[in-house]
Amino acid sequence: MAQEEVFKKLVAHCKEYGFVFPSSEIYDGLSAVYDYGQNGVELKNNLKKYWWDSMVFLHENIVGLDSDIFMHPSIWKASGHVDAFNDPLIDNTDSKKRYRADVLIEDKLAKYEAKMDKEVEKAGKKFGETFDEKEFRETNLRVLDNRKKWDTLHERYKKAMNDEDFKELKQIIIDEEIVCPVSGTRNWTDVRQFNLMFSTEMGSTSDGSMKVYLRPETAQGVFVNYLNVQKTGRMKIPFGIAQIGKAFRNEIVARQFIFRMREFEQMEMEFFVAPGTELEWFEKWKAFRMKWHENLGFGKENYRFHVHEKLAHYANAAVDIEYKFPFGFKEVEGIHSRTDFDLSQHQKFSGKKISYYDPERKESYTPYVVETSIGLDRMFLEVLSASYCEEEVSTAKGGKEIRVVMKIPPVLAPVKVAVMPLVRKDGLAEKGKEIFDDLKFDFNCTYDDKDSIGKRYRRMDALGTPFCITLDYQTLEDNTVTVRYRDSMKQERIPVSKIKEMVTEQVSSKILLKKLMK
Ligand code: ATP
Repeated sequence: MAQEEVFKKLVAHCKEYGFVFPSSEIYDGLSAVYDYGQNGVELKNNLKKYWWDSMVFLHENIVGLDSDIFMHPSIWKASGHVDAFNDPLIDNTDSKKRYRADVLIEDKLAKYEAKMDKEVEKAGKKFGETFDEKEFRETNLRVLDNRKKWDTLHERYKKAMNDEDFKELKQIIIDEEIVCPVSGTRNWTDVRQFNLMFSTEMGSTSDGSMKVYLRPETAQGVFVNYLNVQKTGRMKIPFGIAQIGKAFRNEIVARQFIFRMREFEQMEMEFFVAPGTELEWFEKWKAFRMKWHENLGFGKENYRFHVHEKLAHYANAAVDIEYKFPFGFKEVEGIHSRTDFDLSQHQKFSGKKISYYDPERKESYTPYVVETSIGLDRMFLEVLSASYCEEEVSTAKGGKEIRVVMKIPPVLAPVKVAVMPLVRKDGLAEKGKEIFDDLKFDFNCTYDDKDSIGKRYRRMDALGTPFCITLDYQTLEDNTVTVRYRDSMKQERIPVSKIKEMVTEQVSSKILLKKLMK
């Protein structure tokens, strides 16, 4: 099945099974804003827990924070967001659609890459085991031609972005014959800068209201609390502050479902280090964060690092972790070496001294910062993209059917256990409720006694529930139940007294955390 097709199905699945709903749907929705449903919120909470526990609990020198969305507007002046948090936008005059000029060019680069990969794939199939990919890439004329086009475009694009040369960005779009996906034409406006911050008024207008911003990143809340946490927590450098919270960006182009939203959630950790050690820490965090992703078992080949073409105004090194979504490799997380830019700026704008006396170095300095910043919603999409499977299975009547199963890692699954009496009568429903009432203190469980057992299994597969516990007449005699495993569909009889232990062994967050620290 084509990957675009898979993605469309995934989006529909998310709505049908209560993971994600379009916001304000009964009013025809609000562009790039989404709500999380009954199963989505559980998955999101489990993801937050995996991140929080692995960053805060497992690192003695990292503590948490929950700062507010509203902050003093000078913070955004100091951080550079008022002046420089812009994207280059371009409009197509026929379709009246708006695009990010950099994204149009990056999509073109990805097309050249896809052409090269296609040639390699074709040749790989033709030559089988004797195929030498490296040699093929270095000698095949079609691959070399696309490689040359990629290199030339990449070089031009990098320079234009670094120089903030908008005329050149437009010229690249024209020279590369990039068309508007909607109108199919090449009638473009000039490229202009667009600030991504939302603003609103605080206080009533009569007493002089103040323009405040909805934060575009959670990080600044950490920087302005640096002194509070360092002093009250008696923190010694190196140490980190972690925070999970909402961020808002008035994105020019909202697309790909929850990949690019106007309201989203970030999980960020700012790690404060001594000047001169930041690049060493940058490498450490880069490795740890990649391991964190790979630890979920979605396949190492589905991740890669992407080194930034253009460094943000505050960074001296930056890399993205990209995941292979159905629409290609895209950023899920950024790791940035932010130097002492933020703390120095806040020191300058607030007039308050922000420095650290290092007892080992016997000197005071403004700490440097290494940041790990992951989008919770993109991570959510990573998990769902990796977990969505369609499998052909045999039916009870000997036929074939497709089962849709979300192979979500059990630790993250929204519902861990479904309790299902085979029939509702003869005391089976009561016994089922009794088991459910015991398990609900430990796991998010569901009780289901409607429809045939086959239909109920399919429903739980579609939610990604790893364990179904089925009760039958034998249960009333010997207090045993059947466990049905989601991925293998195998069934096994176990005593009721063993359910909790069996489930705990597979859904406890300890499993992921221990694997991560190996
Ligand atoms: P992009 O280049 O895709 O716009 P970015 O480089 O601006 O992303 P950062 O500022 O580094 O993103 O933000 C850190 C993380 O926050 C990103 O890796 C991403 O997971 C998440 N994020 C950023 N913007 C959005 C958005 N509009 N919707 C959902 N998540 C987002």
